[in-house]
Amino acid sequence: MQSQAEPAGPEPILDWVGDGFFVVDHQYKILHANAESCRLLRRDAGSLVGQSLLDLFDGSERKFIESLFGQSPNDGPPERIVVPMLRGDQLCQFELTIYSRPGGFGVLLRDVSQWIYQERRIAELNATLLASQELLRRKNDEMNVSLEQLEKLNRQLEEMDRAKNEFLAVTSHELRTPLNSIIGFMQLIAEGLCENRQEEMSYIDNALASARRLLAMINDVLDIAKIEAGKMTLVIADMDVEELFNDVGGTIIVQAQRKELALSFRIEGQQPLRVRADAQKARQILLNLIGNAVKFTTKGSVSVTARRDEARPDLIRFTVQDTGIGIPAHYLTRIFDKFIQVDPTSTRKYEGTGLGLTITRNLVEIMGGTIEAHSDGENLGTTMTFTLPTGGEQRRQPDGVELASDEMEALLPSTF
Ligand code: ADP
Repeated sequence: MQSQAEPAGPEPILDWVGDGFFVVDHQYKILHANAESCRLLRRDAGSLVGQSLLDLFDGSERKFIESLFGQSPNDGPPERIVVPMLRGDQLCQFELTIYSRPGGFGVLLRDVSQWIYQERRIAELNATLLASQELLRRKNDEMNVSLEQLEKLNRQLEEMDRAKNEFLAVTSHELRTPLNSIIGFMQLIAEGLCENRQEEMSYIDNALASARRLLAMINDVLDIAKIEAGKMTLVIADMDVEELFNDVGGTIIVQAQRKELALSFRIEGQQPLRVRADAQKARQILLNLIGNAVKFTTKGSVSVTARRDEARPDLIRFTVQDTGIGIPAHYLTRIFDKFIQVDPTSTRKYEGTGLGLTITRNLVEIMGGTIEAHSDGENLGTTMTFTLPTGGEQRRQPDGVELASDEMEALLPSTF
């Protein structure tokens, strides 16, 4: 006789399901726990059935689970959540799918600890990747900036190198030319080759002019060296601008007249006007600027003015304006750099070393002023403007005290 197999009840059928499954009544009592749920939670069915489902959750999660079960509509779509649950005495992440039915709940249970762990790892790796990307981008930007700075520095070095080479060529020419003329003229006289006293005197005059040119050139080079070492000595005192103009005018007028240029000096506004400066250096500044104005102007005039600065009454503003060859816009700041000449080949025509304005700017600045050049372009003239502290009322140092330029700089107000 063939034995008839017993029909399987619902409970063994649930053991066939690959996921954990609980049947729970409305009081959260577990009515059935399938074999997979026991395996997942490391419990036996006897210790689960009859127990409250809420006991499987940590204290803080219970209320949430309770409210979730309370809200689930009968026969509605399942709720799906991920919560930590106790596996033995260890908290693990489980995904619960809750089916609400009139007689209670069906709860599908899946261990997702590994997924969550992987997800967290991926998120962490992503964050690290983003941070590294950001770091890389910043490093890249920094490298680009340093590269730009390096290129700029390189260009400056090349420019300085070029200027220095030009300077050497110009200087050796400038030194040799007057020396050769002095030797040449002296030789003519010494060998008795002059036809008369008048010719002899003209040779002596020429030799003297060359000697003076040579001295001026050597003075420039020495001045620069002193300024760079911070050892230019200054004797600061109040001085009258009109006296300064008379003194400078008397020296330069011959050069201007030789070129038939009109040279004028004017003090604008309130008089007398006083500056606080080293008299000899103030004279040197004006002589340099007016000398250049005369040198680079063939026709017209050179006008020198002084007035109290409207915006800064503690400063006297000087201008030296000419109607000469002008300065191209891109050279207006560079001409104050050492050895820079707009047209170095013109040196033969105009003489000079490209050091005058560097010395001038340094002298102005160590006495607390500023200097700038303005020109509307080629053949439209040039205006040089510089400031020096107003003399008279304020006393920063007793008159006539000798100060090295580095000591002077330390005394200047920070606004300068
Ligand atoms: P330099 O000994 O060549 O005159 P400076 O430093 O005094 O040297 O001047 C630098 C350059 O600035 C000059 O070679 C010239 O190109 C330009 N420069 C200065 N002053 C004037 C001016 N008044 N008009 C035109 N160019 C000027």
